[in-house]
Amino acid sequence: MKSLYNDSDAAAFVDRFKDAGEDVALRVYTSQLIGRDPDLVMHGGGNTSVKGHFTNILGERVPAIFVKGSGWNLDTIEPAGLPGLDLHYLKKLRALDALSDEEMVNQLRTHLFDTSSPNPSVETLLHAFLPHKFVDHSHADAILAITNRPDGEALVKEIFGDRVGIVKYVMPGFELAKVCADVFEANPKVDGLVLLKHGLFSFGDTAKESYERHAELVTLAEEWLENEKRSRGRKLTPQFNAPAEPSMFAAQAAPALRGLLAEATGDPDAPYKRLVVEWRATEEILSFVNSAEFSKLALTGPLTPDHVIRTKALPLVITDPDFGNLEEQLAEGVTGYRRKYNEYFDRMIADKKVERIRLDDFPRIVLIPGVGLLAWGDSKKAARIAADIYEHTIRVKTLVHATGEYQALPDSDLFDVEYWPLEQAKLGKAKPKALHGQVAVVTGAAGAIGSAVAESLIQAGAHVVLSDINADALTETCNDLGAKYGKDSRRGVICDVTDEHSVLALFNEVARLYGGADIIVPNAGIALSRALDQLDADDWQRVMDVNLNGYFLVMREGTRLLKRQGTGGHMVVIGSKNVMAPGAEFSAYSASKAAVHQLAKVSAMELAKEGIRVNVLAPDAVFGNDKNPSGLWDEVGPDRAKAHGIDFKQLEDHYRNRNLLRTRITGKHVGNAVVFLASNQTPTTGATLPIDGGIPGAFPR
Ligand SMILES: [Zn+2]
Repeated sequence: MKSLYNDSDAAAFVDRFKDAGEDVALRVYTSQLIGRDPDLVMHGGGNTSVKGHFTNILGERVPAIFVKGSGWNLDTIEPAGLPGLDLHYLKKLRALDALSDEEMVNQLRTHLFDTSSPNPSVETLLHAFLPHKFVDHSHADAILAITNRPDGEALVKEIFGDRVGIVKYVMPGFELAKVCADVFEANPKVDGLVLLKHGLFSFGDTAKESYERHAELVTLAEEWLENEKRSRGRKLTPQFNAPAEPSMFAAQAAPALRGLLAEATGDPDAPYKRLVVEWRATEEILSFVNSAEFSKLALTGPLTPDHVIRTKALPLVITDPDFGNLEEQLAEGVTGYRRKYNEYFDRMIADKKVERIRLDDFPRIVLIPGVGLLAWGDSKKAARIAADIYEHTIRVKTLVHATGEYQALPDSDLFDVEYWPLEQAKLGKAKPKALHGQVAVVTGAAGAIGSAVAESLIQAGAHVVLSDINADALTETCNDLGAKYGKDSRRGVICDVTDEHSVLALFNEVARLYGGADIIVPNAGIALSRALDQLDADDWQRVMDVNLNGYFLVMREGTRLLKRQGTGGHMVVIGSKNVMAPGAEFSAYSASKAAVHQLAKVSAMELAKEGIRVNVLAPDAVFGNDKNPSGLWDEVGPDRAKAHGIDFKQLEDHYRNRNLLRTRITGKHVGNAVVFLASNQTPTTGATLPIDGGIPGAFPR
């Protein structure tokens, strides 16, 4: 690990955060250096502190510690992420024999200088009990690769000599803080503390000294590992030869797993809690899962106990996949995993004589030779975090295998972190959005209706795959939504709905991107205004290809994907008010939409037994807005105006004035209706919902 400390960058931080003072500014700088290295910390892991003073409202300068607050990541931390606490008071707590986690959190909160601060790290007292001005803590891969072994302690002595104190594993909290202070005081010359199966603390009088000691200690561990690997390293033995590309099998495995990992709630109006996937198949991952040592190494515990929150203690491992029979193997695998998880929970509860709320028993990491790593979470972000953690797990376990024997903490320690009372207290508190954990597919998603529907679904908590034939417009729509709702909220996939292979490829990509889908919104359509005797057969056919064949292909492949999950779902078909109240010189469009309405009704009859609801929306003309004009209306508007005997500019008013509510119909209105139907608010299938401001001639009957 190279020190990235640089005096001019440090000076820039001091300048940028001058209001916070030089110490805190430099603390922010070196915290970010640590946070930006995924081999040191990931996703909220690690913490840092600086000691100094705080001037209170009476003008008194009191000793203070500024320590990482929860909810902040080191890579992006700022002074607001380092809440200040009364250091003089915190140090006195060391005299206590014991302090529960709940009371420790209370003590920390009541000794903040600012009540609006985030909760300080649970390792705050550890930082406070050490005398140094700067303290840096990471969960460095190299340290874990040295300490997660039966002979870890001896190795630490061999590699670091007396430069570090060694702390046996104790769960973070008051007791660990006291043990670390005792170890330090037994040898106050050390530059840091190695916490076995947990990580590294370094300290110093300046931000630079503490950070550079961290880098030196990690480098010593890395060099030892590198030398061992070079001189006597054991390689993984290649065993499994995949018969085809991992991407093909990922598209097969993910929907089956997504169905198996959907938690039935017993509530008919919200039948499942769902997870989404992050699939990865890097060379490193594939050589791990395809090796002879794979299941032995994978079925050991995590690198550090806090990973259990994201990955659970163990992955689901499919050892010898039979791709002709994979769905059955996965079902058996998940059943076995759940049984063992529940046995573990029951055993721990009985051994420890404690009461805990049982967490769901589904795996978060699934490893399959020939497929790679499938990480699951209740959002794409959670799935990505689990995947990041597990990629590092694979790297470290492979490295330990090369140079020795891997050993994780026993179940009892893992359970204490997984079922930590402070985590348990959070359960059930957050109310998820209506479509949380769900995935929607919208075709024609770059258009005025499609983009508004996608946005409404994202706002309701769903992840959305936007598909369109127009690559530029699709990129722009995806960029806009990403900027507003985050990169995990959506993905874009180019698709020509008239091409069977393209539609198949779309749904395979949906399976790889999110694991499957729950809501299918066929929407890609075109219009053509032409009198019957002027209508070319080719033009007629083009409208049928997009509006009817395209819907058929999307609905068929969507149905196949939903059935592979086996957990129901929704199709919300974008139809038209024209079906009930057609207009002259619009035959191809109206006929195609009428056929789609009929297709949807028959689908509703066929799919009800699968728990799949099919409903149709019948919007009147949606003109879009200045930001996203409707391409369709730009194209057919002039001809439609002519057919109505009016000027093009009057067209929008014409449509507004012909409905009872005298209202303009927007894409947002269509999006609202999609969300209403897709969130199971009424037991409705086979229905048509007009979105037209009320047109008596178009009342469904
Ligand atoms: Zn830690």
